[in-house]
Amino acid sequence: MLPERPVKPMPRGTRFGTVVIGGGYTGLAAARRIAELRPAEEVLILEASTIGEGSSGRNSGFIIDLPHNTKMGGHTSPLEVARKQIRMYDAGLRWLEHLVRENGIDCGWNPVGKYHAAASDAGVQNLRKVLDQYREWGISYTEFDSDGLQQKLGTGYYKYGYHSPNNVFVQPAALIRGLADALPPNVTIVENEPVISLSEATPFRIITARGTFVADRVILANNGFAKALGALRDRLITIFTYAAVTPRLAESELAKLGDSPEWGVIPANRLGTTLRRIQGGRFMVRSAYSYEREQTADKTLALLTDCYKRRYPNMKSHQFEYVWGGTTALTRNGASFFGQLQPGLYASLGCNGAGVLKGSMFGKLLGEMAVGADSSYLSDALSLEQPSWLPPEPFRRIGVVSAIKYQAALAGTER
Ligand SMILES: Cc1cc2nc3c(=O)[nH]c(=O)nc-3n(C[C@H](O)[C@H](O)[C@H](O)COP(=O)(O)OP(=O)(O)OC[C@H]3O[C@@H](n4cnc5c(N)ncnc54)[C@H](O)[C@@H]3O)c2cc1C
Repeated sequence: MLPERPVKPMPRGTRFGTVVIGGGYTGLAAARRIAELRPAEEVLILEASTIGEGSSGRNSGFIIDLPHNTKMGGHTSPLEVARKQIRMYDAGLRWLEHLVRENGIDCGWNPVGKYHAAASDAGVQNLRKVLDQYREWGISYTEFDSDGLQQKLGTGYYKYGYHSPNNVFVQPAALIRGLADALPPNVTIVENEPVISLSEATPFRIITARGTFVADRVILANNGFAKALGALRDRLITIFTYAAVTPRLAESELAKLGDSPEWGVIPANRLGTTLRRIQGGRFMVRSAYSYEREQTADKTLALLTDCYKRRYPNMKSHQFEYVWGGTTALTRNGASFFGQLQPGLYASLGCNGAGVLKGSMFGKLLGEMAVGADSSYLSDALSLEQPSWLPPEPFRRIGVVSAIKYQAALAGTER
């Protein structure tokens, strides 16, 4: 359980230079950057829930500084796109690390890289294609056969995999709360204050249950929820994914989970299962997707328990202490939306399940864009492809649900 957050009063004033909607990685980064660049201006963040209770605090805590989707069109070569992304993520990671160190954020920052492992022949093929790209990008990696992975991860479930250094582990709730508590003094956060509506033109009127705020600029940083405020309804899909974490395990049980105190595996299929052995002796399993609605707790528990049991049949118990679901916004072509929706209204939405770093870096760049600052990173962000169009309901639901079923069937033992 996360500790309670102190309740802060509503701000006295109602006029702000910028109002940021959403206090996740994207919103906090945008607010920070604007406040740094405009120290005389007041920035207000309106967060519907409590910082750390949303997906920014309840994810698997992988900060991966490589692109997940480089096969985007509109560019002369995927390699060129990948290089831009790698450069941006590298800068974003260095920025996050600097903030963590400078502010003493105790979030278990651990740059131990990640495994990518395959349990099926199709999965092995997928990983070999990923490694073709890694070679093209100049990324280092170490390959492992099934025996090697058994030693590292304590399971003989996987046939093949590799380790690459491009990942840092964090406790995500500690990171997001630490970032919120270390914002510049000209940023005010109001939690438990969902924005209900937003006027169409500048100066914007931003309405919540308890008040109306006026701002010259608005940053939409509420990911999939932006659709409820009328933005990108034909571009974003909201997807739930699920995770569970065990209680602290006894040393005898931890000995069955490989030879190092912290590691993580990402799957060889999009619908596969992520694993993480967490510093301090817990184990986490993340798997499955559902469209727009959260599946039942019983179904989630049964599914995650099955994923755990199949990989670690010899554990004394497969009980979890916490089980949860969270949303993330996906797009059809894997591209995030980044930029200006209309004069004064900026958004970075749809980070496709890798938002700890993408949200932080795109949020920072969006803050720069909103106040007219320039950088080569910003030009690169603006040159990336934008999300493609999605058909309206009910065709969208039919398409997405069938795609999830099809991908799940393809995933086979990667699930
Ligand atoms: C189980 C799970 C595991 C994941 N694992 C990883 C991982 O290992 N690594 C990784 O990089 N990513 C992971 N993700 C994805 C990651 O959590 C998201 O990409 C990231 O949180 C996106 O950040 P964001 O700030 O853009 O959006 P969010 O974190 O969704 O933040 C948006 C905020 O806006 C608020 N909001 C919504 N509507 C309103 C409104 N009307 N008014 C005011 N506020 C509003 C919400 O309460 C929320 O706090 C995972 C997600 C889940 C669910």
